[in-house]
Amino acid sequence: MSLLARLSALIVFIFAVVAASACGGGGPETTGSGIQVVATTTQIGALTRAVAGEGVALTVLLSAGADAHDYEPSPLAAKKIAAARVILRNGLGLDDWLDSTIEGSGTKGTVVTVTDDIDLRVGDGEADPHVWHSPANAKSMVDNIVTALSEADPEHASAFAQNGEAYKKTLDETDAEIRRLIDQIPSENRRVVTNHDALGYFFDRYGIVFIGAIIPTASKDAQPSAKELAELQDLIETQGVKAILAEKEVDPKVARELAEDTGVRIVEGLYADSLGEKGSGAETVDGMLLANARKIAEALR
Ligand SMILES: [Zn+2]
Repeated sequence: MSLLARLSALIVFIFAVVAASACGGGGPETTGSGIQVVATTTQIGALTRAVAGEGVALTVLLSAGADAHDYEPSPLAAKKIAAARVILRNGLGLDDWLDSTIEGSGTKGTVVTVTDDIDLRVGDGEADPHVWHSPANAKSMVDNIVTALSEADPEHASAFAQNGEAYKKTLDETDAEIRRLIDQIPSENRRVVTNHDALGYFFDRYGIVFIGAIIPTASKDAQPSAKELAELQDLIETQGVKAILAEKEVDPKVARELAEDTGVRIVEGLYADSLGEKGSGAETVDGMLLANARKIAEALR
């Protein structure tokens, strides 16, 4: 190749990288090596990492803090989906944006909904997609991921199974630790309002009473009306709500105002739709669950 050809190839490459980062915020990155696996959400990505270690080439489409409900796959994400052997998704309406990308990419990868077999709670008239907030559900997701990876890569099936069992043990320990934390809260204090209705599985599992949400629908775009806010304020005052729980991924402005107007404590920075950044301690499902439980227990005690 002539120097000029090399140079122009380099320029084309740089343009491609710049274009990809302009569309997709730089991501998604692929880490590890082995069969190509795509996971939609941060939770599924972390569980897949727990099952496979670095033994698959894993691309997690959503980055920490991103909105799972209305993500738009970048051209790079579409390429990863096209090349994937296994595509692991949440389903339940959380990652419907994947459908058109899968169709458009012509991928031959196996698409697996890892929330299959989970007992769903109904929030707001529809199945609540935020299943990972219960360690029991996360264990089902682990099982489904082990099965999916083992079918695609039978050579490593025993390693996947072993890692899966080890991580399920971690989740059992997390469950016990959360129970210990929540047990310290007097039962009359276990009444909360949330920003976005995402923590229902956590509340159901640990006996916390959910009184209402500021953003009542499954989408984070919806804004409550003045009437809805007045009703919620009334509920907070009459139902003895102890705290308003605000997630990291949602602007806490309305939650703060509501806390101020009612004199109720606000807990900010809970992980709802996304795991934490690398190094936050909440970049794993068990770490995220414990981080939330600690904050909630401290606020309600
Ligand atoms: Zn959500």
